[in-house]
Amino acid sequence: MTEPLGTHRFPYFSEEHEMLRSTIRRYIADKVLPHGDQWEEQGFVPREVLREMGSLGLLGMRYAPEHGGAGLDTLANAVLAEELGRSTYGGFAVTVLVHTDMASPHLYHAGSRAQLDRWMPDICAGRKITAVAMTEPDAGSDLASMRTTAKRASGGYVLNGAKMFITNGVHGDLYFVAAKAGETGRNHTLSMFAVEKGTPGFRVARPLKKTGWLSSDTAELVFEDCLVPEENLLGEEGRGFYALVKNLQNERIVLAAQSLGEAMKAIELTLDWVKQRRAFGASLWDKQTIRQRLSMRLGQVEAARALLFNTAWRDTQQENVVKEVSMLKALAGTLVNEVMYDCVQFHGGMGYMRETPVERMSRDARVQSIGGGATEVMLDEVAKRI
Ligand SMILES: Cc1cc2nc3c(=O)[nH]c(=O)nc-3n(C[C@H](O)[C@H](O)[C@H](O)COP(=O)(O)OP(=O)(O)OC[C@H]3O[C@@H](n4cnc5c(N)ncnc54)[C@H](O)[C@@H]3O)c2cc1C
Repeated sequence: MTEPLGTHRFPYFSEEHEMLRSTIRRYIADKVLPHGDQWEEQGFVPREVLREMGSLGLLGMRYAPEHGGAGLDTLANAVLAEELGRSTYGGFAVTVLVHTDMASPHLYHAGSRAQLDRWMPDICAGRKITAVAMTEPDAGSDLASMRTTAKRASGGYVLNGAKMFITNGVHGDLYFVAAKAGETGRNHTLSMFAVEKGTPGFRVARPLKKTGWLSSDTAELVFEDCLVPEENLLGEEGRGFYALVKNLQNERIVLAAQSLGEAMKAIELTLDWVKQRRAFGASLWDKQTIRQRLSMRLGQVEAARALLFNTAWRDTQQENVVKEVSMLKALAGTLVNEVMYDCVQFHGGMGYMRETPVERMSRDARVQSIGGGATEVMLDEVAKRI
């Protein structure tokens, strides 16, 4: 077996980060790998798994202890995401990461004291699963053109609209929903609302069938005259766009970390394969083209990893890293797909078989250049800043 790659310890890691990495690795070996195929089959990760991860303190690492968190930092969440990526089950990884880094930050960063007290302890403990609903059938990359409305009414806001591709959409308990609270305009009317499962007028329209991430549940949601109480507005009315853009930075760091964990693990699995598989009187590893290609891919992933942890560290220093996060998301989302292509190729026919992890990993990786900011959109964010 190839020794785990990508173990270089960057200077900004503390003992705590290292211990965290071993805890997650052990948890995945004991509690995820034996059940991953079953979760892929059933299309979701059982909620007990999130409860268990909550009890290990893995679901609120960046949040303050007074809200149920561990008081760590962005680096800790990048380590979590990288290790979840290494699990080889992208659907499991994203189920957790949407909860920890894509949905719950909307509450944590914009919520009032009362809202934090009401929901954060359950979120950190994995008792309530969260989802974030921004994308719509007609608005994905161009979020400002979303059409879901939130009209003021007695006691709160009435939501009308549809949301598309929502992770944890079926099994979620608490949804952070973006809607326009004014009559006209684009960004300046956008507001965020916390909507609880079971609120009249809110329903799951349908679960969606996907190419990969099979153990992650994805749904289309509908809001029809859904009355959301005034106290569920997150932050100020009309300020949602700025909160949303800020939170997208967390989301993109962990998606990149997940991609790089997947890429590194796929290279390890492929090294094991090519070193024992023989063709034309020698191992595949003896073919110069194969060993050089894998060496180059390893170098590319190591380089992207250095950018990942440097960016995560700069984020902990409160630096503005929008350019670097966008660059990283574009780079990692593209690279993971290139790596998977090579890994499947070097596995030959076995790389196309369901029993081979890289087959699943190659399907899972495809969305990494689309979800959470398509590569082209990310590159335009970089271009605006250079
Ligand atoms: C499995 C999955 C899970 C998801 N989970 C969630 C979730 O939990 N919550 C949520 O809100 N959303 C979620 N999404 C939505 C995701 O973030 C969007 O799919 C993504 O932002 C792209 O939007 P779109 O699909 O509407 O593509 P579009 O905006 O229609 O773009 C299509 C393609 O056009 C290209 N493109 C777009 N804009 C530009 C441009 N300016 N310049 C050049 N090319 C461009 C890109 O290649 C892009 O992939 C999820 C999506 C998937 C597939």
